[in-house]
Amino acid sequence: MSIYNKKQKTLAKKIDSKVVLDKWKDWRWQRKHVITTIDDFELLTGIQFPADERGKLEQTLDKFPLSITPYYLSLIDPKDYKTDPIYIQSFPSPSELMINDCEMADPLAEDKDSPAANITHRYPDRVLFHVSNVCSMYCRHCTRKRKVGDVDFIPNKEILREGIEYIRNTPNVRDVLLSGGDPFLLGDNYLDWLLSELTSIEHVEIVRIGTRTPVVLPYRITDNLVNVLQKYQPIWINTHFNHPRELTTSSREALKKLADAGFPLGNQSVLLAGVNDCPRIMKTLVHKLVQNRVRPYYLYQCDLSEGLAHLRTPVGKGIEIIESLIGHTSGFAVPRYVIDAPGGGGKIPVMPNYLISWSTNKVVLRNYEGVITTYKEPDSYEPLFCDRNCEKCELQLNLDSADEYQSVGIAKLLADYDGDYSLVPQSNERFDRRVEEVD
Ligand code: SF4
Repeated sequence: MSIYNKKQKTLAKKIDSKVVLDKWKDWRWQRKHVITTIDDFELLTGIQFPADERGKLEQTLDKFPLSITPYYLSLIDPKDYKTDPIYIQSFPSPSELMINDCEMADPLAEDKDSPAANITHRYPDRVLFHVSNVCSMYCRHCTRKRKVGDVDFIPNKEILREGIEYIRNTPNVRDVLLSGGDPFLLGDNYLDWLLSELTSIEHVEIVRIGTRTPVVLPYRITDNLVNVLQKYQPIWINTHFNHPRELTTSSREALKKLADAGFPLGNQSVLLAGVNDCPRIMKTLVHKLVQNRVRPYYLYQCDLSEGLAHLRTPVGKGIEIIESLIGHTSGFAVPRYVIDAPGGGGKIPVMPNYLISWSTNKVVLRNYEGVITTYKEPDSYEPLFCDRNCEKCELQLNLDSADEYQSVGIAKLLADYDGDYSLVPQSNERFDRRVEEVD
């Protein structure tokens, strides 16, 4: 196991003069030597910040700590650091101190939608399980700044058991997403225990793991970790690459290990000003991802978290990027662009508009080239009236394995079997008046 390049060798020597060079690939060595101070950052990169800027930088660290693995630090180009995408994602900016009125500590209301410790239950059939407060690198754009950063806080078994019990007692939950912080910062034995508990629950069909370790600490993907995970298939793994420069030899090796072991891999990128707000960068990124068997899954609009205004882009930038991908590259390489609803409510897909107009028997569409075309609707379609009496239905639905949940939201309005014809916001004065009149 050798270090890949001269820069990393020099860095390893500077960090630990007695270092045996093959320690570089030991994830625990990387964790032990994360860069947490501006002094160390300056020493290792040779970058010097002016005195007035340093004061502000120190203040930002009081709000959200600095933590960069030596590996991720080695990807920064000190000569051009101000526009370097690795630097922007990992090193604080004084702009983080500016909090706008629209920004929130918990923009997605994850703590409100939390019926049990460390659980966010937002969608009908799946939950988010926060199993770690620690990340090896603290992304400056993190939406969970309120949670991560309590260094070395990994919830103990007693705390996690509360979440496990909630899942056990909620039969609708078929999909558990482990997140954090980073779940891969749990030790192998601890993960083994957690996964064995979760997969022993009959109604849990799949476990998903969200991790940034292939990006910032690729050496965490060890043979032993893979062996532990393999015992609990199906496990889906989602990682978080934001820029093509993050796909290095080390990260590609980590992805290969996971893909070879049979884990479906997805990627969630965040659209960030000055990092990846460019159709060409995003196209290169998605192409590199699929070359490494990672499917671009989501492109997130940056959340309204406190101090992130300098990293947010207009929504139009995301639409422009998706416009440059759909039709221009393979369909499975196009991520779904979403805005995670402020205040909770989940991901809302945002797309360029392809439907130009429609009548009762025709729709008018445009394609990625600007060609305008029509699609003729069938003349003979007999709408199937669905009263949810599935036993009598001519469509072949295996009732033994079908989970019959009642529809909610717009799907409920579309359902034939439900009499509701409108959705009314809770605070609607007109409807409040009606209730008063009835009383
Ligand atoms: S890896 Fe995720 S949870 Fe951790 S700091 Fe980055 S964005 Fe936040």
